[in-house]
Amino acid sequence: QEATLKLTVNDLTAGYGKAQVLFGLGLEVAEGELVALLGANGAGKTTALRTVSGLLRPWAGSVDLDGQSLLGFSAARRARLGLGHVPEGRQLFSLMSVEENLLLGAAFLAWSGKSDQLERIYALFPRLAERRGQMAGTLSGGEQQMLAIGRALMGKPRILMVDEPSLGLSPKLAEEVLSTLSQVKKEGVGVLLVEQNVALSLEVADRGYVVEHGRVVLQGSAKELASDEGVQKAYLAL
Ligand code: ATP
Repeated sequence: QEATLKLTVNDLTAGYGKAQVLFGLGLEVAEGELVALLGANGAGKTTALRTVSGLLRPWAGSVDLDGQSLLGFSAARRARLGLGHVPEGRQLFSLMSVEENLLLGAAFLAWSGKSDQLERIYALFPRLAERRGQMAGTLSGGEQQMLAIGRALMGKPRILMVDEPSLGLSPKLAEEVLSTLSQVKKEGVGVLLVEQNVALSLEVADRGYVVEHGRVVLQGSAKELASDEGVQKAYLAL
């Protein structure tokens, strides 16, 4: 049995120009768990994901995958090591088909691996299977989000970071997309979820972190966070 792989982030500081956004952020995600990163607009959640995935260079701090430091590694190299990222806004190729978009997510797999991966993604998202030849730009918002997640899964990530998957979706579709993330977790992938819809994300998450001004101010099980008075007031409008 393979040991459980873990993403560990410590004392992360980062920003844009002189504007500091992350002030010593720390978190952990292991394979097979779904962890929510919660916080108000501008708290630094997207910046945290971009720094972990290698799109943004940190000022200081550490990002380790199974004890190996990823500092200085390109985003592509981090992806090959098992770190997947579904960026905010999906970033699909709208004039390419569903299947072509999926295959782009597996550019570094051997061909035999790609067809297995395609079948796995189509099993997870039957709607994508039905629409495999359709242009991505003509998919509904929910389908596009599924495609963005499917494309990231094509690279066989062991830890998958997903930024605001429910943005712009109806409550029903948001629920559908988040429940597929539960499915991804059950397959053994660790999921780090940034989500505006705190109530919904605490329903699917095992644990969560609350981020304010670029640092974690509260962490606990999803149950603990959902019953926390501060969380209820700030994020659940109770
Ligand atoms: P949201 O939920 O609104 O996306 P967030 O918690 O993900 O919020 P970030 O997107 O990480 O927050 O933004 C944190 C801060 O960094 C904000 O003040 C934002 O304006 C700033 N910021 C983000 N991207 C850039 C950029 N490319 N250049 C300059 N400032 C940026």
